Amino acid sequence: MKEKNSIDILKSLVSFDTTSYRSNLELVEFIKQYLKSFKIESELIYDESKTKANLYATIGPKNNGGVILSGHTDVVPVADQTWDSDPFNLIRKDDRLLGRGSADMKGFLALVLSRVPKMIEVNLSKPIHLAFSYDEEIGCVGVHRMLDIIEKKPYKPSFCIVGEPTGMEVVVGHKGKSGYNVNVRGLPCHSGHAPNGVNAINFAAKLILHISELAIDKSINGPFDYDYEIPYTTLHTGIVSGGKALNIVPDLCKFEFEIRHISKDDPNELLNKIKNYTLENLIPDMHNISKETGIYIEENVSYPGFLVSQDSQNVKYIKELLNNNIHKKVIFGSEAGLFNNRLKLPTVVCGPGSINQAHKPNEYISLNQLEKGGQFLDRLIASLNNA
Ligand SMILES: [Zn+2]
Repeated sequence: MKEKNSIDILKSLVSFDTTSYRSNLELVEFIKQYLKSFKIESELIYDESKTKANLYATIGPKNNGGVILSGHTDVVPVADQTWDSDPFNLIRKDDRLLGRGSADMKGFLALVLSRVPKMIEVNLSKPIHLAFSYDEEIGCVGVHRMLDIIEKKPYKPSFCIVGEPTGMEVVVGHKGKSGYNVNVRGLPCHSGHAPNGVNAINFAAKLILHISELAIDKSINGPFDYDYEIPYTTLHTGIVSGGKALNIVPDLCKFEFEIRHISKDDPNELLNKIKNYTLENLIPDMHNISKETGIYIEENVSYPGFLVSQDSQNVKYIKELLNNNIHKKVIFGSEAGLFNNRLKLPTVVCGPGSINQAHKPNEYISLNQLEKGGQFLDRLIASLNNA
């Protein structure tokens, strides 16, 4: 069977439950030991609690140039999903390998690790760096600590490939995302005295309506980027909670909203519009009844958008390796914007599997995608040897 080695590695990787809220240390230790068996040292870059770590390793000469192969080790939860098999036990069904993270994105990690012997064997003239992160799925949180370290390295890689599942096509852009917690503080009282209180739910509702109106405005007036299926910035409220009893004017309403922006838009500008709306239209009415009331907006997650020119050298080079001239922009986010913006590293997103299978029950990667991914890595390794 083709890719037997990478399938064996994938089986091991899937067996570690690295759902983002859990530790990923067992998995990174496994990878560290694996690399060590080929005499490759890896650096573990821990989070504050020391329960999670990024793994960074360099194969080949420690000089300028070469590539960073980037992937995340965490997976999304399986809770509330109905699986036909154990999500943490990779099984084969026809031409599919099923398991949590098989597509997003342990399949890519397994392929990369399966090529380590080859990377050593060919005596690379340019280095290949492995940059495996934690906490990507909760908003690209973990990778920042690794970028701090990479930034200070004396050598500079030439480019970066983020191996998120793109069906092995080159992705040159995705939207940025910012998520916000909103706390609306009202003034409680018996509902019989409703006009004497400040109803937190009512004011939250007005603000949510305003956010949805801004979303409609974006859909009509843009700006637009027609490479996207939804070619404009979107705003959306996803969670609301508030109130204790029907006969009490609620003192608190919490909600969360997000902005997914195209590169022509600035999420801070939109946030300021929302804040100004509260200052001009909501807070004065609330303060008329009580100065103790207010609306507090806090960012809870944010990662930048990602955009590289489809005509750039790097994109052309990756297309040549893929033997596929297609490029696209996608609806999902990744660490690519951070590698591109913070390290000023030409970056593409390209990896095996489909995002349509990611995050779902019975997530799978097809053998065909695994083989395509393997062939791509083989060509990449060969090109770094001749460079
Ligand atoms: Zn992913």
